[in-house]
Amino acid sequence: MIDTLKNTRNLPDSALQELLESTDAALAQRLKDTAREVCLKVKGPEVLIRGLIEWSNVCRNDCLYCGIRRSREGVVRYTLTPEQILQCCDRAWNDGVPTFVLQGGENPAAAKSLIPTVREIRERYPSAAITLSLGELPFELYAALKEAGANRYLLRHETANPEHYASLHPAGMHLESRLACIRELKRLGYETGMGMMVGSPGQTTRNLVEDLRLMQEVSPHMIGIGPFIPQEGTPFENYPAGSAETTLRLLAIMRLMFPEANIPATTALATLLPGGKQIGILAGANVIMNVYTPITERKKYDLYKGKTDV
Ligand code: SAH
Repeated sequence: MIDTLKNTRNLPDSALQELLESTDAALAQRLKDTAREVCLKVKGPEVLIRGLIEWSNVCRNDCLYCGIRRSREGVVRYTLTPEQILQCCDRAWNDGVPTFVLQGGENPAAAKSLIPTVREIRERYPSAAITLSLGELPFELYAALKEAGANRYLLRHETANPEHYASLHPAGMHLESRLACIRELKRLGYETGMGMMVGSPGQTTRNLVEDLRLMQEVSPHMIGIGPFIPQEGTPFENYPAGSAETTLRLLAIMRLMFPEANIPATTALATLLPGGKQIGILAGANVIMNVYTPITERKKYDLYKGKTDV
């Protein structure tokens, strides 16, 4: 098994499942070490720091897992003003962080109003990367945001299995539409990210292998994954959180499958596992997101319980 780790792409489904489920701690460690080795060789020693700006928690969707879902009560809704966004970018830039990630609830009208702000950020920082993560938007809007200067987009597919997808989302949301968006973003020339939650309710190891196969097919530039963490006041509040260990093994497998991809060690991982961002780097991730959301709004971007902001 160990000899074949570097050939993860060609492993059969059964071997991938075994890597994810094995109780052999030495094998799991070897997997992470091999991923780290490949990461150092292919991506070099640098850990890339991104500046995360949680732009708005207003959302039209009602995803069953999410703490900013439309119907969750008690969420104080906010949307950063253009001035606040630019201040966040300035702070990040002055810290030496040249990539701004604007993330928020899915809200096409408000996303449209971001076009001039994106243009302004691009003018101020011609060399910065501007990453958006604003959900499923009309294709013309993706194109207009790209034209204004955005160059990367994160849109997790959440799960590659259509039935599982349907069980995590309200009627009217479909895996096919999400995948159509991901393909369109790639076509428009965005560096495109996808990924899934690990351990979301009803997920099986078989589903995780389906996620890996889907990503092999789409070939994303970036892959973001994190454990599911229940949030109070959502339909999934009483489900157990996903496993940090499985998340780490997936990070390692993804590094071996997609050596060139930019893969963050995410906040959700760090929320479950103290030191999780650093431990994720040791398992093959090469990106860390620093939060630049104004302190006054941070707690309101309440995706899951206990979300850490370091
Ligand atoms: N509206 C954007 C951004 C969503 S929030 C979009 O649709 O892409 C960013 C990510 O947080 C989601 O893609 C999801 O994978 C993750 N997330 C949401 N709720 C979560 C929870 N309870 N536990 C772990 N991750 C969660």
